[in-house]
Amino acid sequence: MSKSSRKQFLTTSLSWMTSLFLIEGGLSLTTKLVAEKKTSPPLPEGLQPVSESDPTAKALGYHQDAKHTDFNLYPERKEVSAKNQFCKHCAQYTKLNEGWGKCNIITAGIVSSNGWCSAWSQRS
Ligand code: SF4
Repeated sequence: MSKSSRKQFLTTSLSWMTSLFLIEGGLSLTTKLVAEKKTSPPLPEGLQPVSESDPTAKALGYHQDAKHTDFNLYPERKEVSAKNQFCKHCAQYTKLNEGWGKCNIITAGIVSSNGWCSAWSQRS
């Protein structure tokens, strides 16, 4: 193989590898976006989620996604025994649809079924 054909081969190979890498990255991003869209149920009409900066929500450490809980403040939420602590399993929660519900304690808006706050108590 001559020096110039080897160089051309390497250049072409590098171009193909870069193209495949970019295509794979694009497909991966598209798949992720579709998956996220599927897992986000719509808000019930006319209702808004409570802001995490709402005074009551903030005082109770509420987050729409329990994964964002401040585990320094609430280390007990990180324990294995707390793995099913979500608003959807809380005694204060009234389901509106698969993703949202009303809370008897945080009333400035609706709460996410996957949320959590420190007032969580097991639904009986
Ligand atoms: S009291 Fe229960 S339903 Fe209300 S925000 Fe806290 S965990 Fe969710």
